[in-house]
Amino acid sequence: MIAIDERGYYGEFGGAFIPEMLYPNIEELRRDYLQIMQEPDFEQEFRALLKDFVGRPTPLYLAERLSEQYQASIYLKREDLCHTGAHKINNTIGQILMAKRLGKERIIAETGAGQHGVATATVCALMGMPCIVYMGAVDIERQAPNVARMRMLGAEVRPATSGSQTLKDATNEAIRDWINNPEDTHYIIGSVVGPHPYPDMVARFQSVISEEIKWQLGQQTGRENPGLIIACVGGGSNAAGAYYHYLNEEKVRLIAVEAAGLGVDSGESAATSVLGTKGIIHGSRTLLMQTPDGQIVEPYSISAGLDYPGIGPMHAHLIASGRAEAVSITDDEALAAGYALSRQEGIIPALETAHAFAALDKIEFRRDDVIVINLSGRGDKDLDTYIKHFERFQKP
Ligand SMILES: *Cc1c(COP(=O)(O)O)cnc(C)c1O
Repeated sequence: MIAIDERGYYGEFGGAFIPEMLYPNIEELRRDYLQIMQEPDFEQEFRALLKDFVGRPTPLYLAERLSEQYQASIYLKREDLCHTGAHKINNTIGQILMAKRLGKERIIAETGAGQHGVATATVCALMGMPCIVYMGAVDIERQAPNVARMRMLGAEVRPATSGSQTLKDATNEAIRDWINNPEDTHYIIGSVVGPHPYPDMVARFQSVISEEIKWQLGQQTGRENPGLIIACVGGGSNAAGAYYHYLNEEKVRLIAVEAAGLGVDSGESAATSVLGTKGIIHGSRTLLMQTPDGQIVEPYSISAGLDYPGIGPMHAHLIASGRAEAVSITDDEALAAGYALSRQEGIIPALETAHAFAALDKIEFRRDDVIVINLSGRGDKDLDTYIKHFERFQKP
């Protein structure tokens, strides 16, 4: 059985390691989140927004040319067709409704690449709530289009100017803000990370992905269960959503694809399940990339969304227990898969998602296996990167 326990642990991973001053906020959320999510009113409002604002259900698409190449039936779960271009909006819709039920009037978030910031700014505009997004000053420079989107949507983007001026510094600033504004503020975390109950709450909001895969696959093939589900893992929210309703179906193989950057052993990587050791990051005990004395090692990947030094506690447990298989994919392997999918299926994937497709060359499966790949996002945001490397990948 793969389930979170009362104290918020998946096996030995998870928990809530937080400054004492955050305890009331986290405790309020922990006490109420399940009950709120199960209220019929909440459920109805969440479902209605997923349908008419996000555009769910997203299609489950049989990719015929890809299937022919790999001699398997490969279905793509089209999260790239969600409003704002990726799965992240499923979670931010859920959390803004949660914030409203908890009586909160102000939203904060942290963002690295800006994708979660955009998804948060979007739902704040939808609900007419003030939104402050903390972002490393370096990331603000690197991710100008997403900063513009957030501002366009009415959010205030506040630079984090300490440390390396990237995601972990933005997270520290967001936590500081929350400590100072415990009464009226909800902190929307963007993946299955953070102190309990965030990993479980985010997994539940994203679980709509596997809920849909089940009935869609049932309709299309007569069987609800695929042989394999493949998803990329940054913090792990799209993977958690794609796995969720299959966690206890032991015959369904779960493939977790991490970013190896320039190579797992190159010193420029984000392959946390291989390079990580046990420790505490963002309030939970999990695997993270750290020096022997516990300093976080800056991760690297060509895809900003996989460039994270930890991994959600659910995935640390799934991999450690052997339930999920981890695969590492380099920048170049992901780029090649991204160009191939674009030409083969007419779909330009996000660079994060391209890692999941590259895994097809790294794993063994049977002829005629049914494979579902979670197509977590679209590649519009990555066109500059794709174009920069274009020539190098053209066949002579
Ligand atoms: C943010 C992002 C990811 C990585 O985040 P997870 O929480 O691991 O899902 C993957 N794909 C896309 C398109 C993203 O925007």
